[in-house]
Amino acid sequence: MTKAPNASAGGPGRIGVLGGTFNPVHLGHLRLAEVLSESFSLDPFIFIPSEIPPHKTVAGLCPSEVRLEMVRLAVADNPRFKVSDIEVRRGGTSYSVETLDALSREHGAGTEIFFAMADDAFIEIDTWKDWERLFTLAHIIVVRRPEGPGKPPETMLPVEVREAFCYSPEVDAFTHISGKHVYFRDVGALQVSSTQIRGLVAGGRSIRYLVPETVVTLIEQRGLYQYPDPGAR
Ligand code: ATP
Repeated sequence: MTKAPNASAGGPGRIGVLGGTFNPVHLGHLRLAEVLSESFSLDPFIFIPSEIPPHKTVAGLCPSEVRLEMVRLAVADNPRFKVSDIEVRRGGTSYSVETLDALSREHGAGTEIFFAMADDAFIEIDTWKDWERLFTLAHIIVVRRPEGPGKPPETMLPVEVREAFCYSPEVDAFTHISGKHVYFRDVGALQVSSTQIRGLVAGGRSIRYLVPETVVTLIEQRGLYQYPDPGAR
């Protein structure tokens, strides 16, 4: 992905956010964050593990403290990458709208928030709590995932809100009436998922080169994901 056209000048005041269950974190998450932080000049890029994910069953979900610890290990060698425990501390079901509200308050109006997600998550955005407000709180960057829906960008904006957007060629994004953009980008996403990792561990197979080495070690030491996934999704 080229560096422009994405948005205005880079530097301070542009932060990236990736929420997820990170059960466990894998190189697909890290590569996504690396490509987006570089091409959108995002610093810091913040990973936010959820406490209770609203859209997945919790069977097979590691405790949030353990998922948080794995993400901390995974980002430790990258000074741009940060981890926030905001959703774990808030407790209960983790709604992105509440997290983005809190981040906006914390960082102030001078900071632009770029909320990243893959197309498999974005395609269900109209099921999220207060989803229409999400488009007013942050720019959204939707990346294509190999196993995602593979739909053309213009068909992915929920029909209920499509009229609130117009295409802005100067940033190659759909601009909401609030001024926030929705970008669709191909970052060359890696074909790896947490479901795949859990399946490999449960089957006694190697997860090296799919997960950071430090996270592999933690998974082995704690004996995580030893049993077949009871259907978490
Ligand atoms: P699971 O397999 O358990 O459903 P997952 O691999 O999708 O998990 P999440 O923690 O749910 O991981 O992902 C957090 C965010 O990162 C979501 O927006 C998801 O779509 C995105 N994502 C996950 N894996 C990749 C990948 N390989 N490439 C790009 N984006 C990804």
